[in-house]
Amino acid sequence: MNLIILNGNIYTMNKRNPKAEALFIEDGIFKNIGSNKEISELINKSSLVIDADGKTILPGFIDSHMHLAMFGSNLYECNLVGTKSIEELINKVKDYISSKKIPKGDWVIGKGWNEDYFNVKRLPNRYDLDKISKEHNICLTRGCYHMCVVNSNVLDEIGINKENHEINNGIFDIDQNSVPTGICRESAMKLVYSKLPKVSKDRFKEYIKLASNYVLSRGITSLCTDDFMLPGIEWQNVIDSYTEMNRDGELKIRVYEQCLLPTLEYIKEFASKGYKTGIGDDHFKIGQLKILTDGNLGTRTAYLSEPYSDDNSTFGIPQYTQNELDNLILTATESGLQIASHAIGDKSINMVIDALEKLPEEYKKRDLRSNIVHCQVTNDRLLKKFKKLNIVANVQPIFLNYDIHMAESRLGPSRITNSYNWKTLLNEGIKVALGSDSPVELPDTMLGIYSAVTRKDLNGFPNGGWFPEEKLTVDEALHGFTIDAAYSSFSEDIKGSIEIGKLADFVVLSENIYEIEPENIKNVKVLKTFIDGKLVFDIEKI
Ligand SMILES: [Zn+2]
Repeated sequence: MNLIILNGNIYTMNKRNPKAEALFIEDGIFKNIGSNKEISELINKSSLVIDADGKTILPGFIDSHMHLAMFGSNLYECNLVGTKSIEELINKVKDYISSKKIPKGDWVIGKGWNEDYFNVKRLPNRYDLDKISKEHNICLTRGCYHMCVVNSNVLDEIGINKENHEINNGIFDIDQNSVPTGICRESAMKLVYSKLPKVSKDRFKEYIKLASNYVLSRGITSLCTDDFMLPGIEWQNVIDSYTEMNRDGELKIRVYEQCLLPTLEYIKEFASKGYKTGIGDDHFKIGQLKILTDGNLGTRTAYLSEPYSDDNSTFGIPQYTQNELDNLILTATESGLQIASHAIGDKSINMVIDALEKLPEEYKKRDLRSNIVHCQVTNDRLLKKFKKLNIVANVQPIFLNYDIHMAESRLGPSRITNSYNWKTLLNEGIKVALGSDSPVELPDTMLGIYSAVTRKDLNGFPNGGWFPEEKLTVDEALHGFTIDAAYSSFSEDIKGSIEIGKLADFVVLSENIYEIEPENIKNVKVLKTFIDGKLVFDIEKI
């Protein structure tokens, strides 16, 4: 059987042939692309013909960085996104415990709160959570995933108290009497996470299925996802789960796994088992080594070269020394692993670039395509090096929804002009791959395109856009979510555009996003999603 699409308003993302009307698909591949007349002539008795009725068709979206399993676990656990007060947070978790009938002594896990959205802007603390329950272990992670709050039970369990609350590369917040408040930042949060119950492979697969169904409804057909950071699961089980799902026909989307391996020992063990970038098939592939070099601006843990403008006592929290980072990046490169380094502050970005520059010449000559994920605070000198080292800027435009309201006070009037500067990145000739970092934000590509094009939050603030000279065009944003995201994962030869010979992944939209008001892009619906030429999401069937 073959599939024929006629009467489409097709934007191919192929610069040589940017527009088309019709597609001929066989064996999951675009076999022909052209006008209605050309493709109609190919109809035979085994053709399934779909009339697209003039609708806009684009290549399937590729999310350049997210956390699929964690997004799935959020759909499964207590969802605290959008909570407006500490009272509401308490009530949501109480309701969750009773609806799921969670026994006393068990863990209660919630995610997604952010005190900036509370009516009274203070962090929740152990005493708030003790009102929910003193007999469960409660851990509620902030939407940024760099901080959590726990109840007194958890602090007792991990042995954190007035006398014992120091930790390297992290903070247990304390009150004026040195008593821990329940807020755990960075490695303090990881210590809590290390106590969480294990995630079985079956549960992991459940998360992936829940999350996949969601992203398919948003037109995402491929994603680069860091799942090793999901608390409670060994990295080998992540790979085995995906491999089994792929074998059993349960993996509906294409996954490029961004492997978070925090130490040299982990990287060596991983490599010794034969894993390196590119191992796998078109549905599940080992992607980059993910390295976390700092935190984020919201919690003042992104690592800056000058102190924070709204707290000059801190530069942020680096996760590695320069020497440690040099060794990680050298060992990874020797082991055939592409790098995707989370770096938000300019100092962190500088450290990653330093480490890449120190690689032996023979490695630097290779097509490394190192990704710097987020790269929010930059400067002209760093951008020149991006270009020289062919670093991909892996950017999350939807971050503006929150960061518009916070970044300027963190960075001050001067540094802010060098931050979130996406148009400048493109003008410098740097490849910009776009993603959502879900579950930090929703994996909804239309929201990402809206943010990139309008530079406004989801309420339309500010009028005219935030630093509007850095707006991307719709076409530039679409390239970031298709062919350039494919480039970031060494897969531009097989996907990211509608081209003869490529995988037949594409989406049908409710409206032509090139022609509507940019403000309305966030309301555009994905009507249908196809992978391998097969319909995997249809809005009429939900
Ligand atoms: Zn991330």
